[in-house]
Amino acid sequence: MNRLTLVDAHAHLDLLGDAEEKISRATSLGVLAVIGVSMGAASMERTLGLGKRFPGIVLPALGLHPWQIDQEDVDEALETMEQNLEAAVAVGEIGLDYKLKTKKSIQKELFARQLHLAVEHALPVILHCRYSHQRVFEMVDGADVPGAVFHWYAGPLELIDKIVQRGDFISATPALAYSRMHQEAIRSAPLEHILLETDCPVAYEGEEATPSTVVRVCEQVASLKGCSSSEVAGRTTENMERFLGRACPWGGA
Ligand SMILES: [Zn+2]
Repeated sequence: MNRLTLVDAHAHLDLLGDAEEKISRATSLGVLAVIGVSMGAASMERTLGLGKRFPGIVLPALGLHPWQIDQEDVDEALETMEQNLEAAVAVGEIGLDYKLKTKKSIQKELFARQLHLAVEHALPVILHCRYSHQRVFEMVDGADVPGAVFHWYAGPLELIDKIVQRGDFISATPALAYSRMHQEAIRSAPLEHILLETDCPVAYEGEEATPSTVVRVCEQVASLKGCSSSEVAGRTTENMERFLGRACPWGGA
């Protein structure tokens, strides 16, 4: 039997215990690459370090997460980011979280600055949106970023059409096991616009995810879509090639 070839589109590798062992295990199961997203300056440094340990496998994304605004020196973090974007495949995890106490105006300003950096460096973006999907979409569309993935999408279904029209993506997580909103989003999006991810080390129903958990996400998407896991794996890996563009390390189309 052919084993699946998969990509984990969103992993917090810097927060994962025994990250190196878990990355190696994932590659032995057919995980071709893992996008390591960042939250702030220290997180970016650790993610870049793992990118050097696993060249072509751990693909770093650099960004300042809205959750970190109050914990970080924003200007310094953005400087770290800008200095290292040459080694990154994407900008992320960035976005807006309207459940936070942090003022919307402050969040939007930071988000806009990072969208600007993404455009300047011709990099796609990995987006966090909570109660902010419409606004995040408008800002991404307005900035004309080269590509975007709306991570762990559980937002309005109407917005999916616009995301698809822009040629962008939404990503599926292990929360498909229990989240109705997430299931409905993945069911209504065309497979050509879906990426698979684990958001590890997030725990789903008490079980901590690792990059290997992407195998299960692939099966979950296959059962929602009524197709085979190998079709989902093949299609989503092609999608990742489109998302990464020239930064895709495995050749692609
Ligand atoms: Zn995340």
